[in-house]
Amino acid sequence: MFPNAFEYEAPTSLDDAIRLIREHGYDAKVLAGGQSLLPMMKLRIAAPAVLIDINGIDELKGWREVDGTLRIGAMTRHAELEHARELADSFPLLSRTARWIADPLIRNRGTIGGSLAHADPGADWGAAMLAAGARIEARGPEGSRLIPVDEFFVDTFATSLNEDELVVAVHIDKPTGPVAARYMKLERKAGDFAIAALGVQVELDSNGRVAKAGIGMCACGPIPLRATKAEAALIGQPLTDETIKTVSRLVPEDADPTDDLRGSAEYKRDLLRVFASRALHEIAEELKGKVGGQ
Ligand SMILES: Cc1cc2nc3c(=O)[nH]c(=O)nc-3n(C[C@H](O)[C@H](O)[C@H](O)COP(=O)(O)OP(=O)(O)OC[C@H]3O[C@@H](n4cnc5c(N)ncnc54)[C@H](O)[C@@H]3O)c2cc1C
Repeated sequence: MFPNAFEYEAPTSLDDAIRLIREHGYDAKVLAGGQSLLPMMKLRIAAPAVLIDINGIDELKGWREVDGTLRIGAMTRHAELEHARELADSFPLLSRTARWIADPLIRNRGTIGGSLAHADPGADWGAAMLAAGARIEARGPEGSRLIPVDEFFVDTFATSLNEDELVVAVHIDKPTGPVAARYMKLERKAGDFAIAALGVQVELDSNGRVAKAGIGMCACGPIPLRATKAEAALIGQPLTDETIKTVSRLVPEDADPTDDLRGSAEYKRDLLRVFASRALHEIAEELKGKVGGQ
């Protein structure tokens, strides 16, 4: 199907984009990678009168590290993060998650900012950004603000962004100790959204105990969810088999999956437990010998 007719704007500065968003209000939609918006327009689930294409805004592209924080521009494509070798050591979840998103064609166009703003409960960046403890930088006519990712997703396809705000970047603090992460996902077929998926990041202290832990889940509730009980149970512990067993069993307690075509709620809960166990065992193995060595 063809989309409804629309006007097209292509601002080259953030200020112009925000002015256009304010001017057109609900009639407008921002176009990033188009990998969710264009299918919705073709199906006429979305019929914006104006498309504001932000692909020409250089301020939204690429990433840089400032004072121990990585700032990733909203227009950074999934594929760029998948292949960013320079980020792999300190920000391991980025490439480990990006490679699981859809297929190469979609990863070449889809953006991290677009994915987060779209707030699909099955989107992989939601789970990963919870695990990484990210903050979302939003900008509107009143200026910029940082939204902790835990406050960003408010409901299915709904965020705490104001109607005239754009996602301009994602901020992630650089770990100070040895860090490792895993992203685990089960799909019905390659390139599909998750049946259930889980991102885990663990940072150790100088004694080899867990100093920081992040566990995020997607496709297991109306929004991406944090496994808070499991995270709390990890803090201060060494990554032994016993700790991993206890923690893995706690992960599904914070999930809220439903029965659907992809699987039963019970199946998804068990997947999360298994993924948590596998992820933590792999992380423990990777971090062996790294304590005191970084
Ligand atoms: C067949 C298929 C399979 C897919 N599989 C997966 C998958 O396995 N995992 C996964 O995570 N995703 C998957 N996706 C979604 C894909 O990752 C999209 O790229 C992503 O959801 C949206 O990013 P985008 O840049 O394409 O945004 P767009 O489609 O351009 O925009 C999406 C929405 O966000 C708004 N928006 C975009 N950018 C901003 C911004 N900077 N600030 C404010 N609002 C903004 C738009 O107005 C629109 O409402 C799949 C998509 C398809 C078509």
